[in-house]
Order: sequence, then C-alpha cells, then structure tokens
Amino acid sequence: MPNLLIQNGRVIDPSQEMDRVTNLLIADGRIVAYDTTPTGEETIIDAKSKIVAPGLIDMHVHLREPGFEEDETIETGTAAALAGGFASIACIPNTDPPIDTQGSVEFIRDRAARADHCNVLVTACVSKNREGKELAEIGQLVEAGAVAFSDDGSPVCNAELMRRAFEYCLMFDKPVLNHAEIRELTNHGVMHEGLTSLVLGLSGIPAAAEDVMNSRDIALAEATGGRLHIMHVSTINSIDALRRAKDRGVRVTAEAAPHHFTLTDECLRTFDANYKMNPPLRGREHVEAVIAGLADGTIDVIASDHAPHAKQKKMRELDIAPFGIVGLETSLGLVITKLIEPGHLDWPTAIQKMSLNPARILGIDKGTLRIGAAADVTIIDPKVRWTVDPTTFRSKSANTPFAGWELTGRADTVIVAGRVKFERR
Ligand SMILES: [Zn+2]
Ligand SMILES: [Zn+2]
Repeated sequence: MPNLLIQNGRVIDPSQEMDRVTNLLIADGRIVAYDTTPTGEETIIDAKSKIVAPGLIDMHVHLREPGFEEDETIETGTAAALAGGFASIACIPNTDPPIDTQGSVEFIRDRAARADHCNVLVTACVSKNREGKELAEIGQLVEAGAVAFSDDGSPVCNAELMRRAFEYCLMFDKPVLNHAEIRELTNHGVMHEGLTSLVLGLSGIPAAAEDVMNSRDIALAEATGGRLHIMHVSTINSIDALRRAKDRGVRVTAEAAPHHFTLTDECLRTFDANYKMNPPLRGREHVEAVIAGLADGTIDVIASDHAPHAKQKKMRELDIAPFGIVGLETSLGLVITKLIEPGHLDWPTAIQKMSLNPARILGIDKGTLRIGAAADVTIIDPKVRWTVDPTTFRSKSANTPFAGWELTGRADTVIVAGRVKFERR
C-alpha cells in the first residue's frame, strides 16, 4: 500500500483542538505525520478548500440484516454509510433473529468484514430475544465484541430490568442505549400529540411518553452509577432533564437525529409516511430545544437513526406504515446546511458530535487524527451545493422526507484504516 498524503486541507480534529491548513501523511493504515512535504513516492489527495476530519461515526444505524434483507443488507447499508461520509457505524440489534448471542455478534462482524466498506461496531440486545423479560448474556456479548447495549425499536419497559442492565453493563464499562417511550402513553399514536394531530384527526404520541421514561432512566443511572445514553432525544423536558442530570454528575449522554432539528409535526399535513418516525416529528418549540441542546453541549452526538424500509411497506397509509426514515446519506448535508451555516454550531463542534463524542461513548479508539491513530479520515467539501436524489442512494431503501432538498456540503472521500473506500466522482 503506497503512503497517502492529504494536501492543503483544513484539518479539524477536536481531539487535539486542531483547526489549521496542513498536510497529513498516512502510512501502513495509520496517521504518521503532519506538515509533510511530498517526496514523489506518495499518492496525493488534493484537499484544497476542503475539510479533513476524523472518520465520521454514526452510532445509530439499522442495518436490517439478518431478517429484513428487503429493506437493507450489511453490504448496502455500509456502502450508504461511506457515501454519507461515515468511516464507522454502530448497528442496532433489532434484526430477526435479534443480536443477543455471541454467534449473532460474530455473524455481523463477519458480514461487515466481507462487505469491506466501513467499520461496523455491534450493539447487542439488553434483553434476550428483545422481549424485555430476561437480561441477555452481557458478559459473553462483550467478549464477542459488543460495544453497547440496546433494545431499540422497543424501549426497555421494565424498570427492574433496566436497573440490572445498568449494573451489569457497568461491570464492563458499557453504556445502555435506550429508546425512551412509555408504551401505555404512545398507544397507537402515529404522530406528535398537539394541535396539528388534533386538526388532522390523527392519534397522538405525547411528549410525556418520552419524558417519563428518560426521567426514570436518569434516576436509575444515578442510583446505580451506570451509563445511560439517550437515543434520538426530541423533547423540551427530556433535554432539560438531561441538562440538569449532567450538571449533578450523572453518567448520561444523548444523541439527536437530523430530522428532529430540521422538520416539525406540520409536515404530517401531507399524510406522507416519510414523515412518520418514532419519536415523532415534534412542534417548533421542541425543534428549537433540540438545536439549543446541541449548541450548548447538552446533546453530545448527532446520529441518523437510519431506518430503511422497502417501498411496499412505507407506501402504505399513515396508520399502518412503519416508523422511520433512511438517514446515512443526508445526515452530514443536513448538519452543514441547518446547523453550521445558520451559526448554531461551528465546524469543530459539529465534527466532534459526529466523531470524537460517539467514539468516547462507545469506548472505541477512533474519532481522532492523532499521530499513531488508525487512519480513518473523512474529507468534506463544505461549499458544494447538491440536491437530494433518493434514486442515487446506495442504501437499498429510499424512504426519505428530504427528496428534492437543496443542501450545502457533503463528503468527497472516506478513508478507512488508510485505504480510500469512497471517492465521489
Ligand atoms: Zn428508537
Ligand atoms: Zn433506531
């Protein structure tokens, strides 16, 4: 493998508080030097006017394999990740069968290695068969390589099970990622409960369904010393509770999904199922709270909650269509267009929420361009204007509400362990 020299890019690496134009040399799959001048031996990547970032990480991705290969496979999902600028993703275990045994963790790792696109980190189930009854074999799953635990798709409803999950995961210093939803409150809701749901005559999902469970989880994390990561936080009160919990030292982190800082429940007026997700699109005041939470550091991570569904499933009427949208190939563009350009986040902070912070939460040695680190690098064109066209997605599914949106900025090149895995032509 020839050495790679990334020339004249603006290198932004929050792990070293670096933000300057320089050259970055990669050899044997690792970052080896800065400010290197070319010797004629290297493969040169011209990054003039580009941003050179640590390989981006999306810690909330549904790859659907095994069991739902009509929606996505590990091959297509990891190709979509690269096209979105991600060098690493963490996959969520609500597959069929769910990822709750050593063998199933190994299956994912094996398939990901065969696809040979981006790094795939495996999140395993909190409970056996995701039934919410009995704790999965946490220790064995960690041994097989699981980096975190989640029953996402479903919440961990049973508070005692959640408490024990915190205690067990603490022994291995692993976080519990919960989808916060009190099922008795969401019932058969299809959208956020508010004025719009009332006007449209659609059954609502109240913000309180999310808030009550997040408060429970924070209390349990505080009581056990366990590590809570709140998935796709979307409400004012949850963000408020999170902020106060952090202030008193509870080990809690959180992520927000791009659709929760770009869209509101008003979108449901179209009755288009591509606006149906869980947690649902909320009112304007909640969207503003998500943006404020990202801006003041309360929300640590931006993660897509990439949830592919085949066309025949998502095209059904709103009541029966499944929740969720694809996100890998629009996430970065939405962050740049809707958070960086309007000045809510600066570049280093945005990159930190998409690389260093998820790496720290997952306890992986990534999200950095330090000398000696594995050379996972994302090169971003921050100025290019492009239109979201789902027919060009690498993902097997195209269920996005962002079709036709004009976005600014996207990834040009993704390097994984020193190898160029994606180049936009
Ligand atoms: Zn969820
Ligand atoms: Zn999810």
